[in-house]
Amino acid sequence: MASSVNKIQAIRGMNDILPGESPLWHYLESRVVACLGSYGYREIRLPILEKTELFSRSIGAVTDIVEKEMYTFDDRNGDSLSLRPEGTASCIRACEQHGLLYNQIQRLWYMGPMFRHERPQKGRLRQFHQIGAEAFGLPGPDIDAELIVMTARLWKLLGIDKHVTLEINSLGTAASRNHYRQVLSEFLSAFKEQLDEDSQRRLHTNPLRILDSKDPNTQALMAGAPALADYLDADSREHFARLKAILDQAGISYTVNPRLVRGLDYYGYTVFEWVTDRLGAQGTICAGGRYNGLVEQLGGRPTPAVGFAMGIERLLLLLQTLEKVPAGIGPETAVYVLAVGDTSAYALAVAEQIRERCPTLVVQNHCGGGGFKSQMKKADKSGALYALIIGEEEAASHRVTLKYLREARDQQTLPIAEAINKIVTATATPTI
Ligand code: ATP
Ligand code: MG
Repeated sequence: MASSVNKIQAIRGMNDILPGESPLWHYLESRVVACLGSYGYREIRLPILEKTELFSRSIGAVTDIVEKEMYTFDDRNGDSLSLRPEGTASCIRACEQHGLLYNQIQRLWYMGPMFRHERPQKGRLRQFHQIGAEAFGLPGPDIDAELIVMTARLWKLLGIDKHVTLEINSLGTAASRNHYRQVLSEFLSAFKEQLDEDSQRRLHTNPLRILDSKDPNTQALMAGAPALADYLDADSREHFARLKAILDQAGISYTVNPRLVRGLDYYGYTVFEWVTDRLGAQGTICAGGRYNGLVEQLGGRPTPAVGFAMGIERLLLLLQTLEKVPAGIGPETAVYVLAVGDTSAYALAVAEQIRERCPTLVVQNHCGGGGFKSQMKKADKSGALYALIIGEEEAASHRVTLKYLREARDQQTLPIAEAINKIVTATATPTI
């Protein structure tokens, strides 16, 4: 009879990553990590929960993220905590706390889940995963370029470079941005009634975000608006020009998108996004920029900083859409050890001997008993190349029967060491 108790479901937008999918995650993560490592970036692991104030002071109190997307709650002491919606603020908090920034250069990366209460859809989740990189202590465009070159190399390594494009922009210094913000706000006030609802709200809180409004009427109005580029100070112009020159020399194509602003308040100077047209509306797979003021804003000394974060789920979707997932990325069972009759202790010991010699080989023990035929069926289904059959006779004589599951070869009954040798040679498995 079916149970009448309701089964508990996961929270909407928070996905399980099932065993069938995890090899793909490992594949992508290991490629990315190897690439970041090859540029000298080192891992920093950060907590998932932080004080809410860390995010409201960094991302900006009037951004979508802080206004309506954070998972915020009071813990048992009454402190307001939030699940991290991104990694940069935590990274700075940790570096400051442990004295990693003053007079130093740091190249760091982090990886893990982020949380935002958005409307779940393809490529947009409430628990999603990012790998991010941050470089501290370097003010010039050379490091901005390094981060971009590094991501470009990664797309190449993953085989998706033909399907992503780079957009860049400069947001200038805080002073030039403030000036422009005023000019834009004045310009748009005259058209207030024609703006979409979100943009009307942002007119006084965060007018720069109106630049990337998706509403067609607002977009049409913006076409006549003053351009941020015309309000940039000399230093930002110079920085941007030098960045473009380095990218040109590195052979990295880009488009300057004068409407590119980011959803986080802390960016200035360079901003960039890697975009694909293969994922529908959620086409940004990696986004970042410079945030020179943020360390100081969080209580540290002024520290030049630049970084990016990529969305793992979107990258995985892209790899799958483009069929760029290499075959055979999961761990594959090499040996299936049968235990027929009362031999399970001996069978476990044999399997341990194999693992002792070849720690990377996947050896599966048959557990749960059953006759020879049903065990052989399971061995075959496991995809293993070899079955080691252990019956009472083998156990008594300290031998095993090696059966080739994928080759037309006769099975052999051998001493354990000899059987292991044959497996090691045939699979070319490294041993210790
Ligand atoms: P978007 O404009 O797509 O909402 P964002 O500007 O909010 O992105 P960032 O905060 O810069 O994004 O995060 C960097 C990357 O993380 C994004 O480019 C995207 O790939 C990924 N990302 C952000 N939010 C989500 C989400 N809710 N679900 C899945 N991936 C996300
Ligand atoms: Mg967003």
